[in-house]
Amino acid sequence: MLLRIILVRIRAAFGATIRSMAEGHVHVDSRPEPVAAEWAEHARGRLRRSGHRASGAREEVVALLSAQDCCLSAQEIHDRLRASERGVALASVYRALDVLAQLRLVHRVDVGGVACYEPASPSGEHHHHAICDRCGKMDAFEDPELERLLDGVATRLGYDAGGHDLVLHGACPDCAGD
Ligand SMILES: [Zn+2]
Ligand SMILES: [Zn+2]
Ligand SMILES: [Zn+2]
Repeated sequence: MLLRIILVRIRAAFGATIRSMAEGHVHVDSRPEPVAAEWAEHARGRLRRSGHRASGAREEVVALLSAQDCCLSAQEIHDRLRASERGVALASVYRALDVLAQLRLVHRVDVGGVACYEPASPSGEHHHHAICDRCGKMDAFEDPELERLLDGVATRLGYDAGGHDLVLHGACPDCAGD
C-alpha cells in the first residue's frame, strides 16, 4: 500500500538556511528544467488508460504544464492559455487539474494558500520549493541527501512512502536583508 507522508513545514529565515545548505550539497535553482514531451506522453497515456477522453481543455492544460519549469495556479494556467488564444474556461482548467491530481500526474503545491500544480515526473524525480512569506518569491531546490533522510524516516516508521510534501517558508535573501 502506498501512503503519503505529510511532512512538517520547516520554518526558517532563508538567508542563513539556504546559504549554509548551499555550501554543502543542496542544489538551489530557481529555474528547474521543464519535463516537456516525456511527461506529456506519459500523462496522455495514463488519461487514456483510465478512460478519460482527450478533451480539449485537458489536452491544453497538459501541453501547457509540460512546458513549465515550476508550478502554476489554475488562474495562471487560465491566463496563459488565454494569452496564447487557446481559451479554456477557468472551470474546465480546475476540472482538468482535478483529474490530473487524482491520477497523480501533477504535484500540488500550496503557495501562500493558493493551490499550484506542476508535472509529476514518472521517474519520481522532483524538486521542492522555498517560499518567501514577505514578497512571495519562490525558489526551487533539489537535495539528494534530504531525499535519503526522508526515505530513512519512512523505513523507520515502517511506511512504504509514496511521496512527501515539503515547503520551506521564511524570508528570502532580499527580504531578510531589509
Ligand atoms: Zn516547482
Ligand atoms: Zn522576499
Ligand atoms: Zn523530495
